[in-house]
Amino acid sequence: MKPASFKLVSIVIPVFNEEASLPQLLSRTLAACSRLSQPFELILVDDGSRDRSSTIMQEAASVEGSPVVAVLLNRNYGQHAAIFAGFEQSAGDLIITLDADLQNPPEEIPRLVEQAACGYDVVGSVRARRQDSAWRRWPSRLVNRAVKSATGVAMHDYGCMLRAYRRPIVDAMLKCQERSTFIPVLANSFARHTCEIHVAHAEREHGESKYSPMGLLNLMFDLLTCMTNMPLRLLSLCGAAMASAGFVLACALVLLRLTFGAAWASNGLFVLFAVLFMFSGVQLLGMGLLGEYLGRLYSDVRARPRFLIEHVIRACPASRPVPPEPANPLPSARES
Ligand code: UDP
Ligand code: MG
Repeated sequence: MKPASFKLVSIVIPVFNEEASLPQLLSRTLAACSRLSQPFELILVDDGSRDRSSTIMQEAASVEGSPVVAVLLNRNYGQHAAIFAGFEQSAGDLIITLDADLQNPPEEIPRLVEQAACGYDVVGSVRARRQDSAWRRWPSRLVNRAVKSATGVAMHDYGCMLRAYRRPIVDAMLKCQERSTFIPVLANSFARHTCEIHVAHAEREHGESKYSPMGLLNLMFDLLTCMTNMPLRLLSLCGAAMASAGFVLACALVLLRLTFGAAWASNGLFVLFAVLFMFSGVQLLGMGLLGEYLGRLYSDVRARPRFLIEHVIRACPASRPVPPEPANPLPSARES
C-alpha cells in the first residue's frame, strides 16, 4: 500500500428537497474543505427537488471562481443515481460523498482525505452514537453482517454515506451497467485496501428522511441483489434438501410396510406425504436451477468490469504477446 498525494479532491453531495439545510451545508463544507492542502470541487447534484434547492445551488455555482458545481437532474432518480451523476461530473483523484441533511458533519472531510492519503482505495466511516431511530438501526445491523459475509470485506456501517473513494474505484463503478445498485457495496467489490474511521453523526435538523418504508425496502433489495445471487441458490438448496428427505421417507415407509404389514401404513397416507415432499422438492430444485441461469444472465447484463489492473510492469515496451499465425494457412485461390 503506497501513500498517495491528491491533485484534486471532489466532494459529491446528492440533494433532494433540502432547501433548509443547504445554506449551512454550503458554508460548513466550504470551510472544512478550505482546511485541505489540496484544491477541491464541491459537486451538488439536485435530484429533481421541488423546493428552492436547485435555485440555491445554481446561485452558489454561478459566483465567479466558486468551487461549487451544480448538476441538475430533470427529475427524481434516487440518492444513488444522483451520486453516480456526481461521479460522472467529478474530476478529482479522490472523491468523497456525504448527505446533504448535515447528518454527516462536513468537518470530517479532512480526516477522510488524510486517511485515504495513507494509500487506501476506500475509506468508510462508522457513525459514533448513531442518531437514528431503532427501526432504522436494527435492519442496518443485519445488512452489515450479510454484506460482510457476501463480499468478504469487513466494514461495520454500510449505511453511512460519508466515504472516500480513489479515482480507479469510481471509474470501475461508472463502467458498471446496472441500474439498481448500492454504492458502498459496489465500491468494496473493486477495493483492495479499505479502512474505516469513526465519525460523528447528527440528528436531522430540517425536514424528514426522504425514504418511505417502501423506499427503504427497495434500497435493501438493491443492496441484496447488488452483492449476491445467494437467495436464488437457496431455492436449489432447499429443494434438494426437501427432495432427499422425501426420498428417504419413502424408502423408510416401504421398509416399514414390508416389515409390519398394510395396516401400519394408514392406508398409504404417509406414502402420499413422501411423494408430495419429493415432488415439491424437485420443483424447488428446478426453480433454483432456473434461478442460477437467471443470476448469470443478471451478472452479464450488469457488465461489471471483470478485473481492475493496478499496475503493469514491463521491462521492454515491445514485449506484448503477438497472436500466433495459424499453423496451416488455407491455400489462396491462385495457389490452388
Ligand atoms: N436523496 C436524494 N434523492 C432521493 C432521496 C434522498 O438525493 O430520492 C438525498 C437526500 O437529499 C440526502 C441523502 O440523499 O442528501 C440521504 O437522504 P436521507 O437523509 O433522507 O436518508 P436517511 O438519512 O434517512 O437514510
Ligand atoms: Mg439523512
